[in-house]
Amino acid sequence: MSRNPECVFCKIVSVEIPASVVYEDQTLLCFLDFNPLSPGHLLIVTRDHYATLTELPSDVSSKLGSLLPLAGKALIEVTGASGFNVLCNNGSVAGQIVPHVHFHLIPRFDADGLGYRWSAGSYEEGKANQLAAEYQKAFTKPS
Ligand code: 5GP
Ligand code: ZN
Repeated sequence: MSRNPECVFCKIVSVEIPASVVYEDQTLLCFLDFNPLSPGHLLIVTRDHYATLTELPSDVSSKLGSLLPLAGKALIEVTGASGFNVLCNNGSVAGQIVPHVHFHLIPRFDADGLGYRWSAGSYEEGKANQLAAEYQKAFTKPS
């Protein structure tokens, strides 16, 4: 089990500090965010310490992916939310404060006042095709 002694989520996993745990298995832990964006805001973390999503071995990412729908259903049942956002910040530039991989599940209610700036742009002629070709190559690279 890899652990970072400085990491707050590793401390929660090892029960060094308390958390309101709602689900656990051999790979993952799910608990309430202590500063919720809305009541019932959940965090799913890996038991092992990985800084970001790109570090995850595929068996761990599969388990994470499988837990998301289950956690979403539980969130709707418990909070009565009309929907929810799934958010995974990767890197400080993306708003990641705790460098231990985690997904936020944020319950959403009508007129809850939550939101974020989504300033969408557009592509110049040819740029989207060029990027798509680069992506296609990157996706087929062995890891
Ligand atoms: P990030 O910006 O890294 O994606 O978000 C980290 C989240 O972890 C924040 O929403 C913050 O409220 C939550 N958090 C940080 N420390 C603790 C803690 O000790 N306990 C709990 N339950 N949540 C925490
Ligand atoms: Zn950690």
